[in-house]
This record gives sequence, C-alpha cells and structure tokens, in this order.
Amino acid sequence: MLDKRKFYINGQWVEPKKLNDFNVINPCNEDPCAIISLGSKEDTNDAIKSAKNAFEKWKETTKEDRLNYLEKLLSVYKKRSREMAEAISLEMGAPMDWATEVQTASGQLHLEDFILRLKDFEFDEHFNKKSNNHICYEPIGVCGLITPWNWPINQIALKVIPALATGCTMILKPSEIAPISGMLFAEMIDEVGFPKGVFNLINGDGAGVGTHLSGHPDVDMISFTGSTRAGRLISKNAAETIKRVCLELGGKGGNIVFADSYPNAVRDGIRNVMSNSGQSCDAPTRMLVEKSIYQRAIKEAAEEANLIKVDEASKKGDHIGPVVSKIQYDKIISLIKSGIEEGATLAAGGPDLPNNLNKGYFIKPTIFTNVTNDMEIAKKEIFGPVLSIIPFETEEEAIEITNNTEYGLGNYLQTEDKEKAHRVAKKLKSGCVYINGNAADPGTPFGGFRQSGNGREGGVWGLEEYLEVKTVTGWK
Ligand code: NAD
Repeated sequence: MLDKRKFYINGQWVEPKKLNDFNVINPCNEDPCAIISLGSKEDTNDAIKSAKNAFEKWKETTKEDRLNYLEKLLSVYKKRSREMAEAISLEMGAPMDWATEVQTASGQLHLEDFILRLKDFEFDEHFNKKSNNHICYEPIGVCGLITPWNWPINQIALKVIPALATGCTMILKPSEIAPISGMLFAEMIDEVGFPKGVFNLINGDGAGVGTHLSGHPDVDMISFTGSTRAGRLISKNAAETIKRVCLELGGKGGNIVFADSYPNAVRDGIRNVMSNSGQSCDAPTRMLVEKSIYQRAIKEAAEEANLIKVDEASKKGDHIGPVVSKIQYDKIISLIKSGIEEGATLAAGGPDLPNNLNKGYFIKPTIFTNVTNDMEIAKKEIFGPVLSIIPFETEEEAIEITNNTEYGLGNYLQTEDKEKAHRVAKKLKSGCVYINGNAADPGTPFGGFRQSGNGREGGVWGLEEYLEVKTVTGWK
C-alpha cells in the first residue's frame, strides 16, 4: 500500500502536524491502495502562510518567467504521463486506455492551451487612444483550489495552470477519494523547481481543510469544482470574507434527438453517457427523443448499452470501469431502484452486479424508458452509467423539458437542420451546447448556468478568473 501521508508545503514534503489516517480505496477490488492523512487547521494555516509569503515575489515575475516554468512543467508532465495514467487508474478504477488517452491527456491539453493563451494575454492595456486611462490585470493573490475525483487531473490543470500563469500562489486540496494524481502533480511542480510556496498541496476532507480554506481571511479566492451541495456550503462560508468564489458544479444534461438526426445519434449518445462510468458533470443523462423515432431509439439504446462491457481497470480492451466508491455505488443503485418503483421501464442494465464480477463498485449500463421529467431519475444528478429516455412531440416541448432542471451545464442536440440547430441552441439554458456530437475546442470556456455554477474555466476566460482588474487614470 502506498504511504502518501505527507503534504507539500513551502517547497518541501512535510509530515502532518498530527496524523489523521484515511484509506484510499481501489474501487475495482474494494481494498485500500494508499493511505493519506487528512490535514488539520494547523497544517492548512501553514500552507496558507507559505502561499501568502510567496505571493509578493511571484506576482512580480514577468510573463516570460512564468511561461518558462510552464514550458518546463509541460515537458515533465509528458515525461511522467504514464505514471499519471497509472495513478488515475488506481484511484478511480479507470481502465488504462481511458486513463491514458482521455484523463491524462486532458491535463496536457490544458497545459498546452494555457501556454498559448498566456503568450497572447496583455496584462496592461490602454483604454483607448483618446483616453489617458489605463487598465491593469493583476493576480488576485492566494487561491484555495478544491477539486473532485471524477476528472482528477483535468480539474487540477484547469485551476493550477491559470493560477500559476497569472502570478497567483495557491493551496490545492484534491479530493480525498482520489488524491494520488494530485500528489504526483505536486511532485512534477517540485521537479520543475517553482519558487518555494507558490504551489502547496494539502490533503483533507470538505468539513476540515475545505472549510478552513474557504473561510480563511488570507485566502483571496476559492475555485471549486464538485457537487452543488458543497458549492452552496462553500459560498456561505466564504461570504464573511467576501472572497471571490468560482464554482463549477453538477449537471443533468439533456440530449435532444430530433427525427432528422444523423444515423448514429442515439448510439453515440449512449456511449457519451456511459464513458467514465457515467461520472461526468456534463454527461447527457436525459435523452429526449422525438416521438416518431421513439421505438427505434429505445431499441438502439438498449442494444448499445448491452454492448458496453464493464470490467476491471487492469483488463485490456474497450470497457468501462467501476464507479468510484461505496457511497457513490449505493447512491446510484438506490436511484436505479427508485426509477423502477416510480414506473419507468428498465430497457437495459439494472441494480445487479454485472455477471462477470463479484466485487468492486461495478454497475451495468442502465437505460430507462418512458421516463417523465418529474421522476427522481430525471431530476437528480445520478453520476453513474444511467440514462433516462423521455419522449417529446414538438421543438418547444423538447426545449421546455431540457430547461426544466435546476442545472445548466451541458446540453446536446442532434438534427441535420442547421436553422433548427441554431435556434434551439440559443434557447437552451446551459454554459455549453454540443450540436451533432461536435466537441469543444481547447481554449473555449467551460462552466454552468444556474445551479451548475458561476465560473468559466479554460482559455482566456480561465486566466481572467484569477485576475483583479484595475483602472488607472492620468496614464501618459
Ligand atoms: P464533492 O462536492 O463531494 O467534493 C468535491 C471536493 O470538494 C472534494 O475535494 C471535497 O473534499 C470538497 N468538499 C466537500 N465538501 C466541502 C465543503 N463543505 N467545503 C469545502 N470543500 C468541500 O464532489 P465529488 O463527489 O468529489 O465530485 C462530483 C461532483 O463534481 C458532481 O456533482 C459533478 O457534477 C461535479 N463536477 C463538476 C464539474 C464542472 O466543471 N462543473 C466537473 C467535474 C465534476
């Protein structure tokens, strides 16, 4: 078992002030695979002090200095990417191909893109030719970065890289459920040789380190990705110190499949939901299907779900792994049971373990049909490989059902009619709309409307989150 009980504070791996052991569980076999320590108030204060002390010098570095550090980080990240994939695979049970080609690759993509954006970013600009006003963009200060387990390095990269790029210092608290990738990332920062205190990592849970960070007066900003529940608690706790709080929260995406959609639209929608074992905030977990193709869609959806294999991370081939923890497993199974009790039709999957497995947190790709938007399975973020299919008759009805949720992160629509696609995309209340399976390019903003959050990560928007804006008059 890996011993990962140290924290990275002020450029060194240090022992916790007081050990508070916490087992990291391998979700493929339910055995502990690593041990971390949950930090205390004293440990958190040390990390905050270190970041505060480092800020004065780091904020004075030039853009070229910081680009230099980030280029070095990129080369270390590439060199150690195999280790990163192994860490992610171990902590969240992701099959190695997925952990390598998608999860680990996302960290590299963000690093490369932020380097490009930083090169073009102007930290000083004149207001306009006639004015003597000048606009300065300045790093906000000490940042508390709190990340989830489902896309561990993707979320870390979306926060740590722009914070470094803009001249902020930081304390990262990765998810205690999947902290190994974050600790490897800290080793990479150490290998690059960033100045002491610029980046600090402390493990802990939400009630401890997370709460202490969000309430601390020396933390100038919290960037949080995780559940809407925790986002609400963080906002309340941070209110006393009026710090900036950027939130990337949950989702319950709709995927509108019109009768004139491309031939593979339903099957692609199933693959999209089930990838990462259904643990993506922008997964299209409500498929809305036009009535004229509803029966065909149900058949294709069930066929496709039954084709998806579920197996251990170590197995080769195209399959999905387990969900991350016993808590998530129990929650998902109870929601599957609630779908059955509420009268939805189970078209594939269900609450039993896949036949080939007798331990681990594995769930069969599950499809419900005849779902109505007021059922629990259509309202709650299930965060597992579970899809609800809802019929609709008109474009207006499809838009109304899709928007009838407290969330607003990612919505999807499938149609060959360009005018209709644009019209519907404009009416959907979400931070992203994906038409006909097209992916978002690196550097585009990602974030939610309504209870899916208030921030935008990625690209120039991601840099701006970490900056204060100052107007100076009389600038000649
Ligand atoms: P979670 O909210 O339980 O935990 C996320 C992180 O917050 C962890 O590090 C946890 O320790 C910490 N935390 C929990 N309570 C806290 C508190 N009161 N104060 C401070 N920190 C606290 O979420 P999770 O289960 O790790 O992740 C899954 C959730 O993340 C899903 O809801 C998913 O939709 C969301 N998510 C959103 C995005 C996005 O960009 N919008 C991306 C990935 C995941």
